[in-house]
Amino acid sequence: MQPSVKNIVFFSTKNYDIKFFSAYNASLPPESQFSFTFLDERLDETTAKMTAGFDAVCIFVNDSCTAPVIETLHSLKVNVIALRCAGFNNVDLKKSKELGLKVVRVPAYSPYAVAEHAMALFLALNRKTHKAYNRVKEGNFDINGLYGFNFYKKTVGIIGTGKIGCCFANICKGFGMNIIGYDPYPNKFFIDEIQGKYVSLDEIWAQADLISLHVPLMPETKYMINGASLDKMKNGVYIVNTSRGALLNTKEAIERLKNKKIGGLAIDVYEQEEKFFFKDLSQEINTDDDLARLLTFHNVIVTGHQAFFTKEALTAISEVTLNNLVEINRGGECKNEVK
Ligand code: NAD
Repeated sequence: MQPSVKNIVFFSTKNYDIKFFSAYNASLPPESQFSFTFLDERLDETTAKMTAGFDAVCIFVNDSCTAPVIETLHSLKVNVIALRCAGFNNVDLKKSKELGLKVVRVPAYSPYAVAEHAMALFLALNRKTHKAYNRVKEGNFDINGLYGFNFYKKTVGIIGTGKIGCCFANICKGFGMNIIGYDPYPNKFFIDEIQGKYVSLDEIWAQADLISLHVPLMPETKYMINGASLDKMKNGVYIVNTSRGALLNTKEAIERLKNKKIGGLAIDVYEQEEKFFFKDLSQEINTDDDLARLLTFHNVIVTGHQAFFTKEALTAISEVTLNNLVEINRGGECKNEVK
């Protein structure tokens, strides 16, 4: 039997979620509109009971849908987990399937947004925009130490050539870069349109001046950037991770920043990000020593999971999430169901 969804509780809500979801909901025919409750809280084992009385939960990247959370949702008759993001590594799919909860997601809300942010991070690392900004604010117009190198003709290694990886490759093509990629499922667009070359991971490590990560977090991709892979890379390599924090072994990266193996590192995602990201902690003491150490390097830039954060992406997230639920209510197959 298809679940019928009317009342939705949102976790980890921000004001932009309320704005974009409310606007799209109001544009639906009255009979298809939903009733929303917006909570600030993150969904986890301590907050799962707050879903009582709702048909669906709407969650984001750092909410946690472990097996015990799903058991609580099931016991409270919540039928649908609607991810307002692409990644689903935070949902125990085995448990949701076992208990019959549907899981839907937004497979692509704006690959351009993430790809553009990845390039912005590479450019900032290379041309030291973050340092230049601070200098001129202080009236210091000295450019000593701000020099970079041309991206033109440099080799960029793209790991994961799906939607975001290919958008990023297209930007690199515009820069006149030599593009190599690794993906167990080669993409025709990457070969035919980008004129990218698929190589092994070891060839990426050996050849790339810049490495950009665009793979999902899975057991086989966890810590793919680690001490061993870093040691095979070119001295001074630039690495940007806009994908998921645990693709990079932070402790081993810190050691390679200290010995200057890594020339620049920019991360929009962090292994322990659920404790920090999307919150104003400026009045708190940072107790995460790895994050604190990362923030001391002048050649490390951290952004707080904002790569997706454009008007176009927020519009697409609200539209696709609610359309997924409309499809479920119509009783048909939802094309964005995670199976
Ligand atoms: P996608 O599914 O289109 O592409 C992922 C690609 O990774 C696929 O081509 C797949 O074949 C490839 N892949 C799978 N296993 C691999 C492996 N072991 N090695 C190399 N490649 C492998 O996904 P996408 O839309 O391009 O998103 C990529 C990732 O970006 C998401 O999984 C998510 O973690 C991240 N993301 C981040 C943000 C952000 O705001 N920072 C926003 C959206 C997505």
